[in-house]
Amino acid sequence: MTATIIDGKAFAADVRARVTQKVAALKEDHGLVPGLAVVLVGEDPASQVYVRNKGKQTVECGMNSFEHKLDVETPEADLLALIDKLNADEAVHGILVQLPLPKHIDEAKVINAITPAKDVDGFHISNVGLLATGQKSMVPCTPLGCLMMLRDHHGSLSGLNAVVVGRSNIVGKPMAQLLLKDSCTVTIAHSRTKDLAEVCRGADILVAAVGRPEMITGDMVKPGATVIDVGINRIPAPEKGEGKSRLVGDVDFASASAVAGAITPVPGGVGPMTIACLLANTLTACCRKHGLPEPE
Ligand code: NDP
Repeated sequence: MTATIIDGKAFAADVRARVTQKVAALKEDHGLVPGLAVVLVGEDPASQVYVRNKGKQTVECGMNSFEHKLDVETPEADLLALIDKLNADEAVHGILVQLPLPKHIDEAKVINAITPAKDVDGFHISNVGLLATGQKSMVPCTPLGCLMMLRDHHGSLSGLNAVVVGRSNIVGKPMAQLLLKDSCTVTIAHSRTKDLAEVCRGADILVAAVGRPEMITGDMVKPGATVIDVGINRIPAPEKGEGKSRLVGDVDFASASAVAGAITPVPGGVGPMTIACLLANTLTACCRKHGLPEPE
């Protein structure tokens, strides 16, 4: 069997086109322009790339992008003061603090300082609680992107066995909550899980969010299953030349795609959907703030 490739890049382009259309209508009908503020502390190269892409795509959708780049030594109090300012800023509908933060800053304190209605990453404790209790919340972008692709591929997810490998607050746990909300039977696996391969083989939907290059192999995949690879790992690629590298997921694409029914590639799968969902969340935040119907 050769799996259907779930094209996250094309899917994300669709989502962005819909957001762009709705942003234009918001401007036309209500004179409103959604605004996203992205805060980056320090000069981590990967984070810089993410922030640049987020800013670029925000503007391309017709929204305002406000970038705040702070020195790596910035005291926590200064970052909290900036967040207060952004919370109060009427032009800002979404606030995203790029993680990870430098060690001297308390990440949870910073995230929980963001007004929940502007927390477009969905990491604030209120949004986590709202999601867990099935109430309207801001949903974390990466799992939301995965869910959209799964719904598109399967239609209803009701009754399917889903296994999420990874239990982080930003991917694994919210992914499991979303699948549960869509009536999957959900198992969360992690580094202490016994016989991971056997657990994975029970999955109709297998989501890998581990951070270990190509760890999920074809023998761990149930024939016909849908595999969502969240992992983004840079590994050496001497075949491309000295010092070169390439991106791979947490799934061994070659062996898994021979068994799975459908699979997301890396790159071009979950990654592009994450930013598209961030833009969609910013639009949603703007609509909610002004009491307008939410985009679908
Ligand atoms: P974390 O490091 O926070 O979490 C990794 C999880 O994997 C942990 O729960 C850990 O278990 C589990 N784990 C580690 N080793 C094993 C193992 N051998 N067997 C089973 N489980 C294991 O990572 P994130 O959730 O932040 O990210 C996961 C991956 O997703 C990374 O590759 C990251 O780059 C990528 N990512 C991609 C995004 C995108 O836009 N596509 C966005 C965010 C992340 P335990 O809790 O027991 O330690």
